[in-house]
Amino acid sequence: MTTFLATWREPGKLAVETAWEERLKGGDLRTCLEQGLAACELNPDFLAIGLGSLPNADGEIELDASMMDGADLSAGAVCSVQNIVPVISVARKVMEDTPHVMLAGDQAKRFAISKGFEPRNLMTPDAIKHLDEWKAGNAPYKYIHVTDEHLHGDTVTMIGLEDPGHLVAASSTSGLAWKLPGRVGDSPIIGAGIYADDEVGAAGATGLGEELWKACASFRTVEAMKRGLSPQAACEETILHMLRRQAHSSEHACVVFAMNREGQFGAATTDGVFHLWICQDGNISVQEFTGLLS
Ligand code: ASP
Repeated sequence: MTTFLATWREPGKLAVETAWEERLKGGDLRTCLEQGLAACELNPDFLAIGLGSLPNADGEIELDASMMDGADLSAGAVCSVQNIVPVISVARKVMEDTPHVMLAGDQAKRFAISKGFEPRNLMTPDAIKHLDEWKAGNAPYKYIHVTDEHLHGDTVTMIGLEDPGHLVAASSTSGLAWKLPGRVGDSPIIGAGIYADDEVGAAGATGLGEELWKACASFRTVEAMKRGLSPQAACEETILHMLRRQAHSSEHACVVFAMNREGQFGAATTDGVFHLWICQDGNISVQEFTGLLS
């Protein structure tokens, strides 16, 4: 059995469908997750990942991505990268082709170019329109894309599991809209945005990155599973801890989701409604999780 999990209602379906297509071609878990995230990065309709996402306060799109393999705890990440997609592929190259875990900013871009990535303009006409609206004080998308109707998350964090008990986790995001230039959230941080350990399971996060990072949300959740909690109970423990200890975690959605090496999974969010996409050997479904605050 191969299982893929991916975050958020809008992009998560494309992520798991693409990962499964790659699996059918014989791709390993790293490649399946890379392809799933790359498909989302290259789709300009998603507002918090890759091409055409919401920029920082300077009007520049700055991307973060990470990957971790639970077999040997190898990990790679990039942060604050401009003009390169898909950055998940650059994060994977940091993991596989360097002795380092993370490269940042212009130097990460230079590394990507040295590996054959072509720099390109990521600001689509729609992204420029959103920026102009924000500058005029009329941004329809605020801190983490909360519209009047619903919480709109497009950061994609994924977990893949193959029998017997091998897991990979990965994430890609443009971070918070209108962030201070150089701001980095949880997504590229191993232990915050993702964590994978074949001895236990894997976890991923999305939402308000500052709070998820302070909670070491993904590592905390994997450690809770290590103590014997189910993935659902482990996610709830992390989110309840955040609500109790971190006042800002109730201001915007903070989400954690997890899967153990047996394939059980769960998710929890501080607030709002979170959708998790699941693909089990090609059978695709979506589950809804309601905030523990509400
Ligand atoms: N966690 C991401 C960040 O703070 C944003 C998100 O998940 O929507 O950069």
